[in-house]
Amino acid sequence: MRSASALVYLSTLLLLALAFLCRAPLVAAAPNIPDHRITASFDLEKQQLKGSVEIILPQDVNAIRVGKDLRLRSILLNGKPFVPSVASGSVALPPHADRTILSIDYEGVFQEGRSPDSADRIGREGAYLTGEWYPAAESPLARFSLKVYVPEGFHAVSEADAIATGESGQRRLVTFDFPHPVPGIHLVVAPYVVTRDRFHSIDLATYFLPEDQGFAEQYLAYSRKYLQMYEEMLGPYPYRRFAVVENILPTGYGMPTFTLIGRQVLKLPFIPEISLGHEILHSWFGNSVYVDYGGGNWSEGLTSYLADQHYAVLRSEGAQYRRNILEDYESYVHRDNEIRVRDFVSGEDRALRAVGYGKTAMIFHMLKGRIGADAFHAGLQKLVRERRFKTTSWADLQRIFSEASGQDLRDFFRFWLERKGAIEITAGQLRVSESGKAYRLELPLRVEGAPFPVAIPVSVVTSTGSEMRTMKMTTSEQTLTLSVDAPPRKVVIDPDYDLFRTLAPSERRPLWSRLLGDPSRTLVLPERNGDKYSSLTEELRRRGFRAMPLSEVTRARLQEGAFLFLDSAPDWLSVFSQRQPDAPGFSLEIKENPFDSRHVIGLVEAADREEVQAVGSRLFHYGQQSRLEFSRGRNLLKEVGSAEVGMQIDVPAQTTGIPGKASIPLSAIVNAVADKTIIYVGERHDRYGDHIAQLDMIRGLRERHRNLAIGMEMFQSRYQNALDDYLAGTMDEETFLRKAHYFTSWGFNYFLYRDILIYARNEKIPVIGLNIPRELVSNVARHGLARLSEAEKALLPKQMEGADEAYRERLQRAFAMHQVEVPGGDLPRQLDSFIEAQVLWDESMAAAIAAYLGHHPGARMVVLAGNGHLEFGSGIPKRAYRLTGESYVTVLPYSGGLLEEGIADYILFPPSAQAPEAPKLLVAIEPGAEGPVVRRFFPGSGAEEAGMKEGDIIIGVDDHKVSDLDDLQAFLAFRRVGEKVMVAVTRGGERLEFPVELKTGFRMPP
Ligand SMILES: [Zn+2]
Repeated sequence: MRSASALVYLSTLLLLALAFLCRAPLVAAAPNIPDHRITASFDLEKQQLKGSVEIILPQDVNAIRVGKDLRLRSILLNGKPFVPSVASGSVALPPHADRTILSIDYEGVFQEGRSPDSADRIGREGAYLTGEWYPAAESPLARFSLKVYVPEGFHAVSEADAIATGESGQRRLVTFDFPHPVPGIHLVVAPYVVTRDRFHSIDLATYFLPEDQGFAEQYLAYSRKYLQMYEEMLGPYPYRRFAVVENILPTGYGMPTFTLIGRQVLKLPFIPEISLGHEILHSWFGNSVYVDYGGGNWSEGLTSYLADQHYAVLRSEGAQYRRNILEDYESYVHRDNEIRVRDFVSGEDRALRAVGYGKTAMIFHMLKGRIGADAFHAGLQKLVRERRFKTTSWADLQRIFSEASGQDLRDFFRFWLERKGAIEITAGQLRVSESGKAYRLELPLRVEGAPFPVAIPVSVVTSTGSEMRTMKMTTSEQTLTLSVDAPPRKVVIDPDYDLFRTLAPSERRPLWSRLLGDPSRTLVLPERNGDKYSSLTEELRRRGFRAMPLSEVTRARLQEGAFLFLDSAPDWLSVFSQRQPDAPGFSLEIKENPFDSRHVIGLVEAADREEVQAVGSRLFHYGQQSRLEFSRGRNLLKEVGSAEVGMQIDVPAQTTGIPGKASIPLSAIVNAVADKTIIYVGERHDRYGDHIAQLDMIRGLRERHRNLAIGMEMFQSRYQNALDDYLAGTMDEETFLRKAHYFTSWGFNYFLYRDILIYARNEKIPVIGLNIPRELVSNVARHGLARLSEAEKALLPKQMEGADEAYRERLQRAFAMHQVEVPGGDLPRQLDSFIEAQVLWDESMAAAIAAYLGHHPGARMVVLAGNGHLEFGSGIPKRAYRLTGESYVTVLPYSGGLLEEGIADYILFPPSAQAPEAPKLLVAIEPGAEGPVVRRFFPGSGAEEAGMKEGDIIIGVDDHKVSDLDDLQAFLAFRRVGEKVMVAVTRGGERLEFPVELKTGFRMPP
């Protein structure tokens, strides 16, 4: 269990009255203290106590308090009978001298259920007396001595520095000695097994029922640990004994010299780990330095801070714990239930606790931040030293910490005690400027709801790490300035939650507590299956949920607040995870309300009524979670939704510029990029100027490196043999074009690239085909990866990494504009498939580059590919880098669009040029089973003039056999304009031949 959750779980248990009421006394200044000498005995069968008390009264105490379960049998005032008049539990006394002795015989019956709100009970199993079980002088503090007769086999525990036990016939006489003034005493009698131990001079003991004896060692070990911790922190433990006592009633208390723990929670691991420490710390704060409740209870906040929060700090989870405090405050405290810290006395209500425990703990944390850890600890020790057994107010704390620190803390305390709410921080536009080697950051901040000066912790995240700074704000609006050595990435305000502040929207997690505490919380009842949830529905209504049927929930309604859906959410709301229709168990999921992020929405689903009942009120223990699953009431899963930690402010993108006439000759670019392993040179495929520039780059690099290769998008890797044979001089150019299927797989005018291939052949530079079958890419573009056959899937690269966000956006734009380069001519149907195809394409080419470099250590490669595969490095370069780790550079011809920073390392401005072109038949052709089929003629076509007709199937030219477009185009590539060629066709099964004059390509009229 995550410990932060454990704490929350505890606070929920507290709400259920299962655990500790931190019971500090209501005390005011008391110059004269009455003395009580009580003797008590029990008849457990009759659930009865018989007692006598002798009270030595100061002159100014003039009433006795008598609990409603007590019956007075006789009263003597200085030995004389006295007939009392009792009014609402109070007995008025006549004027009397100092040290007047009042003797009372009384009895009380404490039955379970007789007084439902009574904290007292006597029964066969023992006596548990934590309420009004003896008549007491009406005085804030008093002294007590107690003698108790208990049955054989029973032990008694009460406030004591020493306990003496003697046998008296069938009974045992237990005498408690406690010299300190206290507001009252408590008594527990049960057939305990007592286990004893010591810590220095302190007597330790556990009083556990026999069946729980196994936990004794653990509790004693933790007691020693916490006594040591707090003696080191605060000074000596104020008493001589400490006992952990099991309580049969489902409540727990911490009181001087012992703590009572309900048997239901005794076994839970976090009780000894955390709650016990909290209760031991109350021995200092609350149970010896008493609280003056008139001005507010400081002790719960201080104890939570030095116990629960401190333990989280020791586990390195301090920031997380404090964040939970802020989250709880935002979840439960609202304008209509918010109180000032000064007004907190006690309470188990979550909103009250968020103030009295949470916010108050944060005040001590901020106090420590303000005066420093040394002064803070000196102040704590001074507080313990000076205020032991005295009622102590916030004003005393203010004075003590002021003296310890030498600072005037009046404004600080006044502000936090008197003012509701939290610090609100808003940040303006972060500005970064560079000067020399330093980066200067300026961040305008507005801080409201803080006592100035206030220290704002700020973390600056840079390219090399992060640095913590503390910025002092002296007014509500101020610009923070700081400088760092490395380029800054972001600024995080209060990353460790050192301030009691409002969370930024990006820090808010979708927690169950936000729904439970939202004043607008609404329960949405299902159309069907409502019965299944009836126990939960009832509980939720009790917790203030309004109810509404599902049919009334509209988008407009959802904007109004927090909603919890039972069984199903509206179809149009797609934020919840899909649950299987007959999934077992019980689940709860909380999400941001998509219509208003200030609220959350939740969905509960359960298999059946038993699952709902089994979870019961346990569901409400998990406020700090976002997703829960239970089976038969047992928690199987708990998750917290994520959000940013601290208020994060990104460094905005910087404006940059380049000189308008800064261009440098290509040779200078070659020089600059020559040390890279992979040099990507982009192109617009149909621009001859771009290809001339590519060749110039290759020439320049070739002069520097012998071990150079050229990777080309224009050739498919499956036809590598044809490339190799042509470059080796063992295959003629026309055959090469046919075997490489250049025209069907690429198609652009061959003369755009021919110079490069001839240069490579002359210089013996390997040319590597990088591309994959265009059918594969176009299949994926049309249907997505999922629909590929097993054989096609086998061709996919082993690793594929999705498109980054910016690439996705560019692809999306291209998709929307239909200006999409997808081989095969089909327009892609789905954006996702289109992006998958692009990624497949890029990854395959990157893998081909990596494969070549892997087999040729020391080699470098010039990669020729379309600009779209190279811009911003998103397509091929970053993928190849992921696979090879080799350095690279991108050089792209300017393509006329927006020139964005980072699009390439170098931009080229190649002059336009006209490429040579192969002569043409001027026919539109489509592939056919027997050969290319004539579909229509372009104006001035020599083929049409020679008598060819639409539908003719071309089967030969001159003495070359033609079976596909590659055969025909490869033949034509090396003819001349004006030349006549004999074209053989079949028409209706008949072979015909036509002498056709070759012409230049048709161009659209301008
Ligand atoms: Zn407490």
